[in-house]
Amino acid sequence: MRLYNTLTRQKEEFIPIASKKVKMYVCGPTVYNYIHVGNARPAVIFDTLRRYFKYKGFKVTYVVNFTDIDDKLINKALEENTTVKELAEKYIREYLIDVRGLNILVDETINPRATEHIGGIIKFIKSLEEKGYAYNIEGNVYFDTTKIKDYGKLSKKNPDELISGARADVNNEKQSPSDFVLWKKEKPGEPSWGSPWGKGRPGWHIECSVMIRDILGDTIDIHAGGEDLQFPHHENEIAQSEALTGKPFANYWLHNGMININDEKMSKSLNNFFTVRDVSKEYNLEILRFFIVSGHYRKPINYSRETIHQAGASLQRLYNSKIKLTSLLEKNPSGEMDNTVKLKLLNFRRDFEKAMDDDINTADAVTAMFETSKYINTYFDESTTKETIQSTLDVYMDMANVLGILHKEPDDEITDDVKQIIEKRNEARRNKDFELADALRKQLLDIGIEIEDTRDGVKWKKIN
Ligand SMILES: [Zn+2]
Repeated sequence: MRLYNTLTRQKEEFIPIASKKVKMYVCGPTVYNYIHVGNARPAVIFDTLRRYFKYKGFKVTYVVNFTDIDDKLINKALEENTTVKELAEKYIREYLIDVRGLNILVDETINPRATEHIGGIIKFIKSLEEKGYAYNIEGNVYFDTTKIKDYGKLSKKNPDELISGARADVNNEKQSPSDFVLWKKEKPGEPSWGSPWGKGRPGWHIECSVMIRDILGDTIDIHAGGEDLQFPHHENEIAQSEALTGKPFANYWLHNGMININDEKMSKSLNNFFTVRDVSKEYNLEILRFFIVSGHYRKPINYSRETIHQAGASLQRLYNSKIKLTSLLEKNPSGEMDNTVKLKLLNFRRDFEKAMDDDINTADAVTAMFETSKYINTYFDESTTKETIQSTLDVYMDMANVLGILHKEPDDEITDDVKQIIEKRNEARRNKDFELADALRKQLLDIGIEIEDTRDGVKWKKIN
């Protein structure tokens, strides 16, 4: 299996530290708000990579952190008239609802929180200080980037770019502009912890380095995240971790491309900022997941009403083949496994694995699924044996499980007409037209669909 390593800017054969085991870390959300569509991409893509490792028989330790102390949390807590801790709790809960909707393997993910690792963070910074990599200026502790010969090796920036790209800092205490803060001195009213440098709180970059070392060890196999994190965040993680341990920090660095909205960069100022929760009010989040895996993870993808509609229609086509197989399986006779199909299935599986082995080319993996789907639709009928159908379903669902799709039972599926009525009702509710919403609810009841409004969107069930 080959993965594109940002460190070397090339595809490399993946060789794990320990045979058949993978230690993976993906930078997680700062929990001060609902996650946006852009956050969904690394969540889905690296979950898909994890699923593929599992498919290949690897044991995966998968860590995604929560940044639960940060300027953004402090400001938002003031705004919402709550505490930083309560705010973090709330948005961690909401995050978990969203990623479950995206069919991320939440129960197989370790989710450490920065505030649970303050002791480790202080110890880590203390060691850096003792080794001469950190300096304290009146309670603010900085990392001395000039001590690192290969600083900039991940983002491949030259020293000038490193300086101009560093986050603008209002204070001019730093010895070099590219130095970054490890420990921030307490400001009145902010949450703080006691430390050898006085009361304060950790900087952002140090959190990931410490949680990785505490949970996974000095060197991990794969560190992943959005490409916007390469500099300064990941560069600084490498600098401080390798300064401390003298060992390589992560063997493979994987970065996903960005999601554009209607061909424009997503930003709050352009007013094209969508949260996953917004999307879930209109579409099943499985469609968002399918949309994400339909593109190559390193290229930008364009989110628009059309592209998401297309993804929904394509996903339905894949579902139709699953539905066909399961219904044939119920009524068709037993018999021999068809050898032509057997050979075909080997080819489909090979194409799928070849795509995934080539730097997680999920776009081509999806194509392999469509080839399988077309074959099922064309050649399977009342005369196909149970054995042939079962083997085909197994291969088809193996692929689907890696991509994290088609996990709903056929019974869960509803027709487009019903979807349209539900959508109309959602719109009515958004417009506070409760009379129309109620009428549409009754219309659904008449055709045997009962709906319920829950915190993760509208749920429905068939009634008799
Ligand atoms: Zn990080």
